[in-house]
Amino acid sequence: MQTDVFIAGGGVGGLALAAKLASRGVHVVLAEQLKRESPIYKGELLQPKTLAILERLGVLDEVEANGHVLDQLRFQEVHRNPGSPPEEVNLTELDYGRVASVYDHALMVPHEKTKEILRSRAKSYGEFFHYLPATRFLGFENGMAKVKNKKDISYIQADVYIGAEGRSSPTRDAMNVKVNRKDYNHHFLTVTIPRPETFTKGKVITTSSCFLGLFPLPDNEVRTVFLIKAGEYKRIQEKGLEHLYQAYSELEPELSEGVRSIKDWKTVQLMIPYTYHVDRYYSGNLAIIGDAAHTVHPMAGEGMNLAIQDADVLGELLAWCKEENRPYDQYLHYYEDVRRPRVEFLLTLSHLSALVYSFQYEWWRQFRMRAVQRIYDDDYLHVKQMLNISGLGKWDFTLIDRAIQGSMLPPRRKKVSDQKQHQYLFSEAEDYPWK
Ligand SMILES: Cc1cc2nc3c(=O)[nH]c(=O)nc-3n(C[C@H](O)[C@H](O)[C@H](O)COP(=O)(O)OP(=O)(O)OC[C@H]3O[C@@H](n4cnc5c(N)ncnc54)[C@H](O)[C@@H]3O)c2cc1C
Repeated sequence: MQTDVFIAGGGVGGLALAAKLASRGVHVVLAEQLKRESPIYKGELLQPKTLAILERLGVLDEVEANGHVLDQLRFQEVHRNPGSPPEEVNLTELDYGRVASVYDHALMVPHEKTKEILRSRAKSYGEFFHYLPATRFLGFENGMAKVKNKKDISYIQADVYIGAEGRSSPTRDAMNVKVNRKDYNHHFLTVTIPRPETFTKGKVITTSSCFLGLFPLPDNEVRTVFLIKAGEYKRIQEKGLEHLYQAYSELEPELSEGVRSIKDWKTVQLMIPYTYHVDRYYSGNLAIIGDAAHTVHPMAGEGMNLAIQDADVLGELLAWCKEENRPYDQYLHYYEDVRRPRVEFLLTLSHLSALVYSFQYEWWRQFRMRAVQRIYDDDYLHVKQMLNISGLGKWDFTLIDRAIQGSMLPPRRKKVSDQKQHQYLFSEAEDYPWK
């Protein structure tokens, strides 16, 4: 089989890339090892830049129709009172609306729904998209991709090969790049439970020793993420589900009924955060995107967004190469030039957000509370934080910012104008500099 572009892996990254390329008349073959939907939780928060990309792919309306809008993120510090409602110690709300863009919110969408929408978009360009389900990419032989479906082995010849296989990537192995993994002192338990209709805000509820993230989904469900110490899962399971019911109810009484819908530990997924970032995104006519190239701590909700944003830049580049009749391999460096520094920046931001919730001391909580509150009190910090996590732009934090956040300097009174912000939003020339 012969094609312009071969993609290994049909996760959000591979599918977004395929949809973009097929829409531009680039012939794509995509091999996905799974036969059907995966029950594994893999992130649901779509950031504003991703929404902009989905709009250009022509699927935003459908995605929005299947999503729950989050325009603010609420950070609630409480004292747990066993047997009675928690006492609120501090409340901070960070607002996507502070970003000067029409994409002024995030969206919670079931992961498989986003994939389904992207897959059917790609399939709508039937002539250019060849989807191979239940087909595993094994590696390269004689410059061709070797794939296996049941017992049948076949070979695909392409002008360029993209690894979008996620964390375990044969394409990355073939590129021989360095992967430095960093682990954390905590894990997460995650499960979706029913929520009351009125429970609509995304929130993080914390005490000095507990963390519960709550992110509403459509259909009156809510994704819950509960932090535990690394290696503690077995001990928690031994304590029984009643322990989990109690922990959730004491942190968020509104969910005390919903949490009882968990009847079996099998529905609770253990999530082990770690991060890495490869030193190169391409080699010859091979390139990697998404989790094949980088994995991010989930605290800032960036993983699937980075994959889709990689796909957007790489897709635009490959489509341009085809339209302009340029050799793909000579232009792949543009993909790395644009994406690597942005990903590095968000990896650091996510890592810092993770550290804020990594230590279970009261003095640390006091520091965290002040630091989060300062983001709200100082408009520069607020705008920078939301702009940076939105993916729409990049505005570095300065030493002065950090001194304000650390309460060494007072917050600024001045508001950030939209005009000022526009300097830091990515322009089309920055997203696609080869044009
Ligand atoms: C438990 C967990 C929780 C997460 N939580 C969040 C979150 O809250 N927010 C967030 O934004 N991100 C989260 N992430 C990260 C997010 O899921 C990933 O960053 C994102 O899915 C990356 O997309 P991808 O397309 O690069 O890879 P994946 O989504 O991993 O897709 C890779 C695809 O390739 C297929 N594949 C793998 N190997 C082969 C092969 N050899 N041949 C053919 N097909 C292959 C796989 O079956 C899969 O379909 C989470 C990830 C995990 C694992």
